[in-house]
Amino acid sequence: TKTKEIYNFQSETKEILKLMIHSLYSNKEIFLRELIANASDALDKIRFLSITNSNLNIYNTNLSITIECNKKEKTIIISDNGIGMNKKEVIENLGTIAKSGTKNFLSSLNKNNDNKTNLIGQFGVGFYSSFIVADHVTVHTRSVHNSPKEGILWQSHGTGEYSIEYKEKKEVGTSVILKLKEQNQEFLDHWRLKNIIQKYSEYINFSINIKNEKNELEQINKTQALWTHKRTEIKEKQYIEFYKNFTKTSEDPLLWIHNHVEGNQTYILLLYIPSKLSSLPWNQDKKNGIKLYIQKIFIMDGLETLLPNYLRFIKGIVDCNDLPLNISREILQNNKIIEILKKSITKKILNVLEKISVTDQKKYTTFWKNFGTIFKEGPAEDINNRITILKLLRFHSIQHHNEEQYISLENYKKNMVPEQKNIYFITGDNYISASNSPHLEIFKKNNIDVLILSDKVDEWMVNYLIDFEGIKFQSVTKHDQNLNLLFKNHDNKEEIPIEIKQLIEKIKNILKNEIKDVQPTYKLTDTPAVLVPDTNEMSTQMAKLFIAVGQ
Ligand code: ADP
Repeated sequence: TKTKEIYNFQSETKEILKLMIHSLYSNKEIFLRELIANASDALDKIRFLSITNSNLNIYNTNLSITIECNKKEKTIIISDNGIGMNKKEVIENLGTIAKSGTKNFLSSLNKNNDNKTNLIGQFGVGFYSSFIVADHVTVHTRSVHNSPKEGILWQSHGTGEYSIEYKEKKEVGTSVILKLKEQNQEFLDHWRLKNIIQKYSEYINFSINIKNEKNELEQINKTQALWTHKRTEIKEKQYIEFYKNFTKTSEDPLLWIHNHVEGNQTYILLLYIPSKLSSLPWNQDKKNGIKLYIQKIFIMDGLETLLPNYLRFIKGIVDCNDLPLNISREILQNNKIIEILKKSITKKILNVLEKISVTDQKKYTTFWKNFGTIFKEGPAEDINNRITILKLLRFHSIQHHNEEQYISLENYKKNMVPEQKNIYFITGDNYISASNSPHLEIFKKNNIDVLILSDKVDEWMVNYLIDFEGIKFQSVTKHDQNLNLLFKNHDNKEEIPIEIKQLIEKIKNILKNEIKDVQPTYKLTDTPAVLVPDTNEMSTQMAKLFIAVGQ
């Protein structure tokens, strides 16, 4: 049909449009970053398709992005010869925001005042940023799977509705035409436009051309992927800019790892540790932030088998030469080469962390404060690297108690007194309650350090610690023979006075259905009595956890 159909935006979309236009008023130019990123994604997709599907003869087309402006019409046009969209896709992608994070996005926009620009890209509302500068947007697109006649024209003023009609399009791909608002004519200026594009597109792996006043195409980015350069050829600033473009944030990374690995497997790594957890906690757990490339061609992101879970905060790219290009996600899920890659990448990351923990403790503390709780999944997940992981763990303890102060197991071991046989720990809901436990009184008095485990994951993690360099972990709340030896100033050979014996009998009698035994202890100094589980029993903290989950 040739008729024009009118649709309403999904109600949340309207709300987002309104909010975005108002909140991003001072940083209008990011609409270009967003549209270029979309075009680049569309080019990635068609390139991937052309490799996996030999019927599509597009591999040799020059995949690129073109930007032109028309001063008379007051328009900017961003075109790509990427994968394009059919009618259904246009409606789905540009008419609704089906992502579950939408509500969260709205509320973070309201709360989070200085971080708005960061949030836009991460929520996939990128396209809508067009309406910050334009009062009318046209998208003319044709899917790679469709004929010229099936081109789709989408139009909207960004207020409440949009229209869709068929309109012939000769080439596959998408053009976005922005009719600029009266007050945003500055973007028609060739130099201004060129500057912005340069800023946001240096790390796009397709050529971006701008049409100049004489109607000639001028390429404005270098397209050689950053990671393919040698380390010595890349400036610190370039690494940082790449990261910002990659993650769509404005924060510097904490550190990066760039390696050209040759050997059984030839691959390149460019990995980053962010300087803090994403401001979007609900996005944090979904998929990891690694993009897989094969011979510089983007294949897919979030491949679960490429990185262990406890390192999921790592962002970056892995570019492998040894995988066949026409590989599917299913095959990659249990592929030997991927398995080897994962092992090798994990080792590389752990090595760098180990190095930093020695050479730059401040940096390491920042890392630990942000990602420690995720990293603590390591001992359970990765048996092969158990020893390294244990060395990288950091703890609060009786003697290391403020925000910035942590102790490693190596240092704990060094500080042990000669008679000490175990690494002592206590678990609890938070540092204050755990560290005030009566079980710790005697340890404090005797200057023996105890690890304070008060993170939610700790109680679970501690089951996987088992021992460190042969020294067993021991909860101070559990019965422990070695303690009497340790605190030998209270000689336990001393006869128990008769009054105490009688008292014990009395208590036993009264509580006989509730308890297993009553014993004298020298562990307490200020508190008269405590309840302890037997050596092999579940700890009280664990019991609480089971009760909490209804067991
Ligand atoms: P995001 O890019 O984060 O998914 P957008 O709102 O910017 O969010 O775009 C929504 C979707 O619209 C994209 O995921 C993509 O499927 C589609 N899209 C946008 N621009 C293009 C384009 N130039 N070519 C093909 N598809 C596009």
